[in-house]
Amino acid sequence: MDLHDLAWKAASGQQEGSSLPPLDGSVEAMRLRILGKLIYQVGREPRTASPRDWFVATAYAVRDAATSSWFADRAAEGEGGKRVYYLSLEFLIGRVLMDTIGNLGLTGQVREALQQCGVQLDEIVLEEPDAALGNGGLGRLAACFMESMSTLKIPAYGYGIRYEHGLFRQVIEQGLQRELPETWLAHGNPWEFPRATFYPVDFGGSVTGEPGHEPTGPHVWTPDETIHAVAYDTPVVGAGGQHTNTLRLWAARAPEPLQLDAFNRGDHVGALRDRVKTEAISRVLYPGDESSAGQELRLRQEYFFASASLQDLLSRHLVEFGTLDTLPDKAAIQLNDTHPAIAIIEMMRLLVDVHRLDFDRAWTITNETFSYTNHTLLPEALETWPVALMERLLPRHMQLIYLINMRHMQAARDKGADHRVLAELSLVDELHGRRVRMGHLSFLGCHAINGVSALHSDLVRSRLFQDMDQLYPGRISNKTNGITFRRWLHRANPGLTRLLVETLGDGILSDPLQMGRLADHADDPALQAAFAAERLACKQRLAIVIRERTGIVVDPASLFDVQVKRIHEYKRQLLNIVQAIAHYRAILADPGRHWVPRVKIFAGKAAPGYVRAKEIIRLVHDVAQMVNNDPVVGDRLKIVYMPNYNVSLAEQIVPAADLSEQISTAGMEASGTGNMKLALNGALTIGTLDGANIEIRDFVGAENIFIFGLTASEVAAQSATGLDSHHAVRANPVLSEVFDMITSGQFSPEEPHRYRNLIDGTQSYDRFMLAADFDSYAAAQAEVDAFWQQPARWWRMAMLNTARLGWFSSDRSIREYAESIWRVPVMQP
Ligand SMILES: *Cc1c(COP(=O)(O)O)cnc(C)c1O
Repeated sequence: MDLHDLAWKAASGQQEGSSLPPLDGSVEAMRLRILGKLIYQVGREPRTASPRDWFVATAYAVRDAATSSWFADRAAEGEGGKRVYYLSLEFLIGRVLMDTIGNLGLTGQVREALQQCGVQLDEIVLEEPDAALGNGGLGRLAACFMESMSTLKIPAYGYGIRYEHGLFRQVIEQGLQRELPETWLAHGNPWEFPRATFYPVDFGGSVTGEPGHEPTGPHVWTPDETIHAVAYDTPVVGAGGQHTNTLRLWAARAPEPLQLDAFNRGDHVGALRDRVKTEAISRVLYPGDESSAGQELRLRQEYFFASASLQDLLSRHLVEFGTLDTLPDKAAIQLNDTHPAIAIIEMMRLLVDVHRLDFDRAWTITNETFSYTNHTLLPEALETWPVALMERLLPRHMQLIYLINMRHMQAARDKGADHRVLAELSLVDELHGRRVRMGHLSFLGCHAINGVSALHSDLVRSRLFQDMDQLYPGRISNKTNGITFRRWLHRANPGLTRLLVETLGDGILSDPLQMGRLADHADDPALQAAFAAERLACKQRLAIVIRERTGIVVDPASLFDVQVKRIHEYKRQLLNIVQAIAHYRAILADPGRHWVPRVKIFAGKAAPGYVRAKEIIRLVHDVAQMVNNDPVVGDRLKIVYMPNYNVSLAEQIVPAADLSEQISTAGMEASGTGNMKLALNGALTIGTLDGANIEIRDFVGAENIFIFGLTASEVAAQSATGLDSHHAVRANPVLSEVFDMITSGQFSPEEPHRYRNLIDGTQSYDRFMLAADFDSYAAAQAEVDAFWQQPARWWRMAMLNTARLGWFSSDRSIREYAESIWRVPVMQP
């Protein structure tokens, strides 16, 4: 049968419905399904279909396969188990196709079915836009957690916003970052199901008590604005395809599509104005990472999705169980940072005003249902909202916050808190213009609070919430982050995965701790060679991408030194480039020495308003321009900045990295997950004792990682003595020469003072300890070079990293949340 006949067979099947062969896992059924989708859903014939058409048709066919298991799970859930609700303003998902067919066990069938149509799976995969509904680590964690919850068969919903525009697309023009709008929905989204389900979400207006009311009794909120939250559902398939959860994202819709009175008056633009304003809520993701936007629209986004999600889960609970008393037994609500924290108050409003529960009972239910993950200690990232804004936008919520705070303050006084402690504990910060502290609110409203690495959780307890912890002890615990190995090893690095399976058996695919046995082979020269060969193949592929995107030619035999993450002062890309300049100078001073050839690879986006971060991006480009074109240097050093870092680019860079730069100022990176992705793929880490680097060191062994720099407590001690580092810089001949080169315009001759502010600022207020850590960083880099020249030693270390990273699976993280916070049953591996 030729393709055309097949298409018609598929088509008639599609039309008759029943005669379409079920997706039984056969290539034939998949092929007919894809062709049917191509013709009837995409509206194309095979002979004229573009690669994108084939991608969309394939996605629809795969979605059918996912949907069957989804229905089965919805039916099973009707049996009354507890559900997890994961509330996150960000889901940094990336592409979905390979993950979904991989988890369904259909990769081979889909590949073969397409092949028979003359289409290559690996080519159409590239047609899928990244779903970039997040900024960085926090959003990527939410995506990994969704996948792990499905894999562990935990009934769960993810709730978030269906941003029309995800994180901006970064282009670099002469070293300057430009932000272009991201348009992932431009050609539709084949994975989602738009639902008729919607909920009204109110803003503004006034509040009145009921006649004879008590302050804690129900109140009537008369809003002056109502917006509809419309649901879009995406199935999230777990590994093995046995369980599928739902990611439910909300879009904002105006209740009245047009204002008919204005329309009838002939004011056609005015008739649409309110609609445009209303729907702005789900228009765009705020692009700040580790900083609070503080904008009214952001607060509207937070309340919009929190309210819709709670109305949805409460109505599901009531349909199923008929009473809200059992809510804590049947629902666990996890707040991914404080962004959804207003949900705590919304729960109180719904329970007290709508469902008319007693205030104390409502508070107990709320507290037992909610838990909160803290992601940062940086002051600029801690969310606070002006009381005046809250009163205007959410008057009933502000009332409830005051009420809850009064009771909280009374409890603190009863335990002997003095004025200083009361001011620390209060939900309202009175010192910075009366603001509601969302972290405090989260602590108070949740029965469990966790940090995301051992160090970070200790600092959450000792620095951020010291007084809260004393008043409400036992709430804080640690849940170290993880990553899904399906995406970050099995799919991103199929060559290495094949080698691991050949060596250790396919048990490693479902139980990553079994990779520990790779340690028994770490000295096997043949396996070392095979491991190194897989790395080289990834580097060769990356070298092609680098050339295509930047024009820079790199030698895949060089050491690939990688720092890929958001650009932030605390992550210290500046330290990296400053040390690279020192290295460059050393090469020029002694070109005949046997230098280890290095390619320094940077990638990452800066928040659009973050001037310093953008200056650092520009400096990297200016330095690259000089170094890459210096004939004396040649292949000894290349500096590459890859634009538009996102999940798909990460999947190409991570398997090709020899060295992983995890060099944040100690105490400032909550966990990091890029560090885990890279070490899992066998990159060696050069890093500080920060976040999960510490636990990575504990697992891989101190002899298999390059640790340098001040510890978190040393950073704190040094900060207390002052942050001016002029003296330290002048006392350091290498660092002062590098700074002089930069400030004298050697890298920017057309504008000599370009980096004056950056460098002067760093010296007079060295909050990130660049001067203090420079020497130990440079020494660690020299050690890296020395080890690279001993291949047997290097590859042994690399293999031990992969072998010992199994604990950093997000399945392990989720198991810990499930057992000690959510109290839901989980599968054991
Ligand atoms: C993993 C990941 C991050 C987080 O990286 P860190 O190094 O932990 O900051 C950010 N962005 C993308 C695209 C990622 O895949």
